Amino acid sequence: MALSYDLHSHSSASDGSFTPAELVHYAQKNGVDVLALTDHDITSGISEARQAADKLGLGFIAGVEISVLWRKHTLHILGLNIDPDNTELLAGLDKIRQARLWRAQEMGHRLDKAGIAGAYEAAKAISKDGNVTRTHFAKFLIAEGHAKDMKQVFKRFIVPGKPGYVAGEWAQMEEALAWIAKAGGISVIAHPARYKLTASKMRLMIEEFIQAGGQGIEVVSGSHSQEESRRIAALARQYDLLASRGSDFHDPAIPYINMQSLPALADDLTAVWTAWQ
Ligand SMILES: [Zn+2]
Ligand SMILES: [Zn+2]
Repeated sequence: MALSYDLHSHSSASDGSFTPAELVHYAQKNGVDVLALTDHDITSGISEARQAADKLGLGFIAGVEISVLWRKHTLHILGLNIDPDNTELLAGLDKIRQARLWRAQEMGHRLDKAGIAGAYEAAKAISKDGNVTRTHFAKFLIAEGHAKDMKQVFKRFIVPGKPGYVAGEWAQMEEALAWIAKAGGISVIAHPARYKLTASKMRLMIEEFIQAGGQGIEVVSGSHSQEESRRIAALARQYDLLASRGSDFHDPAIPYINMQSLPALADDLTAVWTAWQ
């Protein structure tokens, strides 16, 4: 039987709810044979996850998910099968995390000016490890009664023109692809259907991604519908891209992102894992 690959997952090293070791155990219980840990802009969970996977006999791939800027859109690029200790990759990720920290602090200042005090400190406490994201601010704003749910938080506070909005200062796509290549990895566009690009913008993005050395695309994703997966599969065929499959698992409380129910890749696609077998 074919192995079940899940090449996109998050641990508490970024915004997942499980520690790297817990995540690996959870993956095995949920039928995964080979797991990639792809935390946001950080590789610090990899050694713990690899150790746990080795103990269990689970296949393990070191990865990372990098936030990049492409023509004013924030995209996520996965680096799969990377050397997590590569100095150029680490320096690049460090730069992104510093920008993230600056953004979180700036968001706190702006909310403060709008009359909501202590938001940064509260969001930081919610984040546990100090990697403060907009989700953490949102949880605080809901808990304090400034909004009733996530949707309202974004509408009231975190869209352009509102007090909590600070534009992301991410890496350019070419830069991130260069770091991944230096670390010996394969670049994959994560959950492409989620960016809400028009069909022509999507093709342009893929063309520029390939020009910059990108090789793969996530066809099956926990956040893709079947129809979206079919559409992305057609693009993988058209552009001869390696096809990837990943749940984007963060937390068992998010029901639609589920390791067990993730569909298989269509047989005629070239799976990304064939590149390192
Ligand atoms: Zn993502
Ligand atoms: Zn992700």
